[in-house]
Amino acid sequence: MTPGSPGRASRRRAPHLAVCSRSMASKTPVGFIGLGNMGNPMAKNLMKHGYPLIIYDVFPDACKEFQDAGEQVVSCPADVAEKADRIITMLPTSINAIEAYSGANGILKKVKKGSLLIDSSTIDPAVSKELAKEVEKMGAVFMDAPVSGGVGAARSRNLTFMVGGVEDEFAAAQELLGCMGSNVVYCGAVGTGQAAKICNNMLLAISMIGTAEAMNLGIRLGLDPKLLAKILNMSSGRCWSSDTYNPVPGVMDGVPSANNYQGGFGATLMAKDLGLAQDSATNTKSPILLGSLAHQIYRMMCAKGYSKKDFSSVFQFLREEETF
Ligand code: NAD
Repeated sequence: MTPGSPGRASRRRAPHLAVCSRSMASKTPVGFIGLGNMGNPMAKNLMKHGYPLIIYDVFPDACKEFQDAGEQVVSCPADVAEKADRIITMLPTSINAIEAYSGANGILKKVKKGSLLIDSSTIDPAVSKELAKEVEKMGAVFMDAPVSGGVGAARSRNLTFMVGGVEDEFAAAQELLGCMGSNVVYCGAVGTGQAAKICNNMLLAISMIGTAEAMNLGIRLGLDPKLLAKILNMSSGRCWSSDTYNPVPGVMDGVPSANNYQGGFGATLMAKDLGLAQDSATNTKSPILLGSLAHQIYRMMCAKGYSKKDFSSVFQFLREEETF
């Protein structure tokens, strides 16, 4: 940890000097809370880099394989904070993050001065800022570091981390995040990591719906889907949804559309992220006409039985809406 020099912008300065006590550049235990689809492979990559883990998940089965591998499993987030001074959280929603940090047995109950707490969940930037204030009051440091890239990228250590927080602490965060991702990008003050993530996912939702609409229209006009995808991908309509994650079954191998939309990034999580974009747009008086429409489409999909399918199943949803 490098203390901030006088006169630098406040986002570059650690709020206190207590962080000196944190273990740095050594393989001391790292706390990991939330071992779900993403947290599981992320934690395993920390293990591969030689970090002993202190593990907690509300769903005990999620901890079992870590326990079997000799990692220490504890019974609440507070106990993680008692045993580790660097903690990563990977939880579904803002409510879960608030519970894990500020709940009755939350991290803040036993957090040590100087601890570094990194939240990689995708949550409301306003909640990240609130958590950062509470953490700071305890003499510790909070950074938001949501990820782009799905379960496959988490397994292959190819995630992109978008990091918000005190800049002087970025190197300490990078040491751990670099074990789980290939890109670790500093975005600015606390909450800016979430802001970048929310903007990316809003654009992704819009481009996925657009790709699904174009593919569906082309197929109904008599085009072969593989040929249409090939033409789009050599033309100006090309995007990640058309060339890397095409939503039409049979066009590509190794994507959720080739496997009945199983795995990948669930429509429920996309609906949640679009809700965060909607709230942020309201708070900042930003027009997001297509983002709002995308939110409604994903909410409707979830209500109509698509909640457990990958978000590219919007193609299947549109196919079924003959009179849409
Ligand atoms: P998940 O539901 O698979 O896993 C979350 C885990 O957190 C579960 O094991 C759950 O039991 C645990 N949990 C919930 N509340 C808890 C609490 N209070 N204390 C301890 N554990 C708790 O979710 P995921 O797919 O791993 O996603 C995690 C986050 O990453 C989400 O915010 C999501 O939007 C984001 N994300 C997911 C993907 C993806 O492809 N799945 C990609 C990028 C970002």
